[in-house]
Amino acid sequence: MAASIGKVDQLAKALARNGVDVFLASSQVTLEYLTGFAEDGHERLLFHATKADGNGCLVCPSLTETHARKAGLTDVRPWHDSEGPDQAVLRLAEEWNLRSAVIAVDDEMRASSLLKLQELLPGALFRPGSSILAELTKAKTAEELASLRRAGQIADAALPKLLGTAIKPGVTERQAARALLEEMERLGGTPTFCIAAFGPNSAEPHHETGDRVLGDNEVALLDFGCLVNGYHSDITRCLAFGDPDPEVARVYEVVHAAFLAGMEAVRPGVPAEEVDRAARKVIEDAGYGPNFVHRLGHGVGRRGHEPPYICEGETQPLGVGNVFSIEPGVYLPGRFGIRIENLVAVTDGGFESLNEMPSPTLPVV
Ligand code: ZN
Ligand code: ZN
Repeated sequence: MAASIGKVDQLAKALARNGVDVFLASSQVTLEYLTGFAEDGHERLLFHATKADGNGCLVCPSLTETHARKAGLTDVRPWHDSEGPDQAVLRLAEEWNLRSAVIAVDDEMRASSLLKLQELLPGALFRPGSSILAELTKAKTAEELASLRRAGQIADAALPKLLGTAIKPGVTERQAARALLEEMERLGGTPTFCIAAFGPNSAEPHHETGDRVLGDNEVALLDFGCLVNGYHSDITRCLAFGDPDPEVARVYEVVHAAFLAGMEAVRPGVPAEEVDRAARKVIEDAGYGPNFVHRLGHGVGRRGHEPPYICEGETQPLGVGNVFSIEPGVYLPGRFGIRIENLVAVTDGGFESLNEMPSPTLPVV
């Protein structure tokens, strides 16, 4: 439990720096990160409270108490279904002096829970806690990096085995996605998602995988990932079968050059937006600027998307241990889209790619 106790202490220090009295964590992901205990309260009010002085406690439905204590939590304040959570919250508020406190909550707290807390503590100021939490989660430890690296290796290894066999003209997007998910599981990851987009569907950045059959000479865009020890991978590869339209190969090379330019801009101290700009410039100079319709990347950790966001307007400097995606894309509606995505970790000297480097030219199978 030592590592978990360390996180609560770090959070407490971040609260003090930010003028916040208490942080309420309600999502399983945040609970596990901070305390090692993970449970979703669903419709029942459940949160871990961290006070700026370093104290922590769990308010939870009584049916969760045993699990929480087994996980090592000592200050557990259960409430019973027959009485509801009000008294447990009010007692904590009295003891911790929260009636007019500044209270930060994680992004995933249910509206019903937050509204209940606001009703019980009308003099408190509630604010989003995600930026405070990000001060901790952005700086990955060596242990976290090892899990992220392994998740990346599994994603890397899954696709080559399937090309020309489970993924070839004649299969549907759903069949290709299922094959990739199964392969990641076979390799030891817990598969989380796979977007398979064939032909013109590849021009939709977040295509809903469906029953489209892969035709000859078409593009296949595959965006997928898995978990290792609770940490995500996220990779996108594009390839074509047969004899694709020559513009596909041209666009692929532009996106690849943008991908490299973004990656090479990564080092400690650089504002996140400059990495986006470095990649975007390559695509703009090639005349495809309006077709790059999203930010360059997003942080990855216990969440598939988390800070830092690699986007215009994000001026915070990158720091050692930050992990995020570099994923430029060009989308030509009705025709095809190309996106290339790796995860990178910021190191003292620049960056480490957590995925193998993609082919510099369009892979044609
Ligand atoms: Zn992705
Ligand atoms: Zn991504």
